[in-house]
Amino acid sequence: MKKTLLLLLLTLSFTFFSQAQILKKPIPDKLVVLTFDDAPASQYSVVAPLLKKYGFGATFFVCEFQPNYADSALYMNWRQIQELNQMGFEIANHTHTHANVSKLSQAEFNAELSYIEAKCDSLGISSPTNFAYPGYGLNAKALEFLEQKDYVFARAGGSRAYDPLSDHPYLIPSWATDEKNKVEIMKAFEQAKNGKIVILTIHGVPDIEHPWVNTPPELFEEYLELLKKGGFTVISMKELEKYVASKAAKKIIKADFNKRSKN
Ligand SMILES: [Zn+2]
Repeated sequence: MKKTLLLLLLTLSFTFFSQAQILKKPIPDKLVVLTFDDAPASQYSVVAPLLKKYGFGATFFVCEFQPNYADSALYMNWRQIQELNQMGFEIANHTHTHANVSKLSQAEFNAELSYIEAKCDSLGISSPTNFAYPGYGLNAKALEFLEQKDYVFARAGGSRAYDPLSDHPYLIPSWATDEKNKVEIMKAFEQAKNGKIVILTIHGVPDIEHPWVNTPPELFEEYLELLKKGGFTVISMKELEKYVASKAAKKIIKADFNKRSKN
């Protein structure tokens, strides 16, 4: 009996200690992170003005999506990405070529990351500190490579809420929007409570080249309207640093590859 009590006390104090280290401040209810992948043209023409209208923060995970990235009808150019940065949005790394990083050597991965870092540097965009796995391809090696490059957070899929006390900072889950999953996304927003954060992965609004991840502009604005009316706080990945001490979390939380990480 005494032993059980001692064990319980130890567990409780460890939990309390870990929480204090991982969280810089308590996670408020209704905290949502918006992330936008692949740099489709509509993120500049449709998404950014709408986000500004609603006063929301967001992260743009950019890459040069092969082979059509230079087609300005389909993708943003770097001047437009620079403008997003000047508007106050976060520009983050989605690799140079939208590569499946689970298949890359460390040298190849570093080259993919460095290309985007150098582009940002040349345009006065602060160096990306956050990463999103193209196609949700990831493995333990990829996490090591990110660690060596000192990245803060890495976003995956998984269609579940982010719990900073149990999800590793390089395995941050998200839901991906498309034109058919409105009910699922609306339900997802309800999970932003009790210490959990809801993160969305959004592609083109609309998405011309990848229709399976298309989010129609009217549906997107419906989400923004709901977030505004519901009193949600909508931030970028970078702003997560106000709440989560990534370095401490990486030490305390073991990367669990059994949890779902794909959308
Ligand atoms: Zn992508």
